Amino acid sequence: MEKCRAFSYDKIEVCRNCNSEGRIPEDGRPGFKICPICCGSGLVKKHYEGTVTMEPYGREE
Ligand SMILES: [Zn+2]
Repeated sequence: MEKCRAFSYDKIEVCRNCNSEGRIPEDGRPGFKICPICCGSGLVKKHYEGTVTMEPYGREE
C-alpha cells in the first residue's frame, strides 16, 4: 500500500550571495552595498514544500 505524506517547513540559512556578510562589493567602484538577497541580515529563510511517497520495497517472489 502506498503512503503519501505532505510536508512544508521553513529553514533559516546563511546567505550565499554575500557569505553572510550582509553586503556585497559595489559594481565597478569601491565600497559596499546592502545584499539584495538577504537585505543586509546575512541570513535567508527558505521555504520547502513537497510530498513524500512511501511504498513497500523488495521481497518480490
Ligand atoms: Zn546576503
